[in-house]
Amino acid sequence: MKLQDYDISTQVRASVLSNQRVTAAHSRQEVREIELNIGEQFHVLPGQNIGVLVPKAISETDEPHFRLYSIADSRQTFDGNHQLHIYVRRCHYFDRLTGENHLGVASNYLCDCKPGDEITVTGPYGQAFELPKNHHANLILIGTGTGIAPFRAFLKHAYRHQPEFAGNIYLFYGGETGLDLLYGNDREEDASMYYDRSTFEAIEALSNSDEENRFNWSDALQSRARDLTRLLCDPKTFIYIAGLENIRDELEEALIEVAGSNRRWHHWKKELVDDGRWIELLY
Ligand SMILES: Cc1cc2nc3c(=O)[nH]c(=O)nc-3n(C[C@H](O)[C@H](O)[C@H](O)COP(=O)(O)OP(=O)(O)OC[C@H]3O[C@@H](n4cnc5c(N)ncnc54)[C@H](O)[C@@H]3O)c2cc1C
Repeated sequence: MKLQDYDISTQVRASVLSNQRVTAAHSRQEVREIELNIGEQFHVLPGQNIGVLVPKAISETDEPHFRLYSIADSRQTFDGNHQLHIYVRRCHYFDRLTGENHLGVASNYLCDCKPGDEITVTGPYGQAFELPKNHHANLILIGTGTGIAPFRAFLKHAYRHQPEFAGNIYLFYGGETGLDLLYGNDREEDASMYYDRSTFEAIEALSNSDEENRFNWSDALQSRARDLTRLLCDPKTFIYIAGLENIRDELEEALIEVAGSNRRWHHWKKELVDDGRWIELLY
């Protein structure tokens, strides 16, 4: 769906409660976790996104600048308001020819906002990441960079709100370096969250290249190739993928390696897609 096709007629004001950097100070990726307080009517589900409208005065465009962000966490406060967390990567593009640095409008607007600021939010949009009805289903979650955001909400939902869920969950999460990880870092105390569950495993995929936004899916998936092969033959297995669109090809190659052949992977993938067990949120 194109950005111009989103319905932005319902707009709510949200106040910024906090804005903290998540990636290490000396990482070249700046990702910030922004906590928003939003009205009572704004119900969101894991896997959904919110829209953010940047005022015309800041975007310097005729129309407000509109961009989408995945919900990393949400909760309802005792007074009925909803509090949301989003992860925002500060985008910029350095043009080596002209020496100019072009800043992404919405991401810089959000990364620079301060507690107490008010922003305009639309939505929520998108298909929710729903837990399969079968509580013994297996989930393979693959999230790169800020793609980990919807999985945070999803895991919390699975383990806290559906305690009967007993399927295996493999979370593969990527970062250019260990400094960029948005999961398993000290700040979030992830290690203490689900590691006690024998059915949950989180596996990191760090880049082995200097190129921006590259992740080493091949090594990460190969390290669990035997388990993945078993799960991919199981009709109870679901795959969820979230993050930057540019992971598609690299991930596909890594999955072909796991399957052992192109033909076998395409057979598995067709079954996953046809049965609605392949869910992706790539941007
Ligand atoms: C469903 C969905 C969910 C998403 N979830 C998240 C999320 O959870 N977290 C997240 O961080 N992002 C997410 N995104 C991406 C997000 O919506 C924005 O696309 C992203 O933040 C960039 O928007 P921007 O306004 O900052 O950049 P824009 O202003 O749209 O610019 C886009 C890029 O072009 C570069 N640029 C700008 N001007 C020039 C120029 N003149 N020449 C060359 N390059 C230029 C910018 O530096 C930037 O990198 C999601 C997208 C989708 C579709």
